[in-house]
Amino acid sequence: MSSLVLIVEDEQKIREFVRRYLEREGLTVLTTGSGAEAITMARETRPDLVVLDLGLPDVPGEEVAREIRASAQIPILILTARAEERDRIAGLELGADDYVTKPFSPRELVLRVKAVLRRGAAGSVIDGPTRFGDGALTIDEARHEVTVRGEAVELTPTEWGLLTTLARTPGRVYSRFELINSVRGYEFEGYERTVDSHVKNLRRKIERDPRAPELVQTVLGAGYRLTLRSDA
Ligand code: CA
Repeated sequence: MSSLVLIVEDEQKIREFVRRYLEREGLTVLTTGSGAEAITMARETRPDLVVLDLGLPDVPGEEVAREIRASAQIPILILTARAEERDRIAGLELGADDYVTKPFSPRELVLRVKAVLRRGAAGSVIDGPTRFGDGALTIDEARHEVTVRGEAVELTPTEWGLLTTLARTPGRVYSRFELINSVRGYEFEGYERTVDSHVKNLRRKIERDPRAPELVQTVLGAGYRLTLRSDA
């Protein structure tokens, strides 16, 4: 059965653009430009995912998210033109499953939508610990815990963000540009080096030998990827 996605976006051009790309992926799409209508539609149609623009003319997107979450655990992917950190944090408090900052590429959006849908369907990353690399690394998103070879590891919010982003699709290469979304308070100009230095710190905490990393792997000229899940 095809997944149902509700797109809430008041800018018609973006709405139609997103609709086209998601339909091309075989998803069933409903759209609205009104926050009030979105709340009713979500209640009545129980979509598998809501793609929600924060800047809506009638009801603020934050409130739409809260209303939708109050009645059902529907995953929400937020579209925002406001890239400031406080909006990201506000989004986290809303319990958003992911974000895409405008302007975004259709490819990025489609990948994020699919990742959120997959998590919703499997529930594994959210509900319990997930093991990577022959069980050397365990991530429990719900408990906010990382263990390496049985030992709990303390990560900074940025390291946690990087690791859980990579863990969304193990084996997939994430560019530094994609990973910068998980880094708090960065200076855009030096973002590549910023990501590299956080990855270096992360490796010091989780790799057996940080100079020969097995869990977080570098893909030259492309970015980073997390080794596959043990049960994959
Ligand atoms: Ca808008």
